[in-house]
Amino acid sequence: MLASELQKSKYRDYLDSLPFNIISLSANRVFPRLVESLKSVLTDRMFEIQKAEIDSCFEYYSSIVSSNLYSLYTMDMSQVALKSVIERADLVHIKEVWEVQHMSTNSTSTNYVVLLKDHLHICIWLLLFSEGIVCQHFFQIMLKSNNAIFSVSLIKSYWYQRNTGLDNVDALFSHSGVSNETMM
Ligand SMILES: [Zn+2]
Repeated sequence: MLASELQKSKYRDYLDSLPFNIISLSANRVFPRLVESLKSVLTDRMFEIQKAEIDSCFEYYSSIVSSNLYSLYTMDMSQVALKSVIERADLVHIKEVWEVQHMSTNSTSTNYVVLLKDHLHICIWLLLFSEGIVCQHFFQIMLKSNNAIFSVSLIKSYWYQRNTGLDNVDALFSHSGVSNETMM
């Protein structure tokens, strides 16, 4: 009796630990060099938070929006926010617009990520502007688009370890690894 209870409890612990471990491994396997660079630059706490954003990107799916469609958007809050981002960014600076949705069946909210030239992007969730870290939606787009280039310098320098800069780390990444592109 006790043995079977112990077994059940161990099994519960195993199940509890499973999603976290699988997801964490996924981030490391999909973006190994990027995760390594972040770990060497960010404070431990910010590394955890930024890595949690990367881990969450696997919970989404995304599709590219053609330019003749998004110019017509005026329906819900997300589309209005996207429209205002597009109106502010000069159209010639926009490379791609992506629609990002959470995989949970009861999720109705849609997010938009606008990829700009010069390795910049705007997500209408605005985590980069409010907290200085890069959001899960952007990493979802990185899985799909060669035009989504992550730069460590996007993360605000006040989250860096003391006396740490970007001189000795790889700082630009595409989904396939370290990017050969340079900052413009
Ligand atoms: Zn976002």
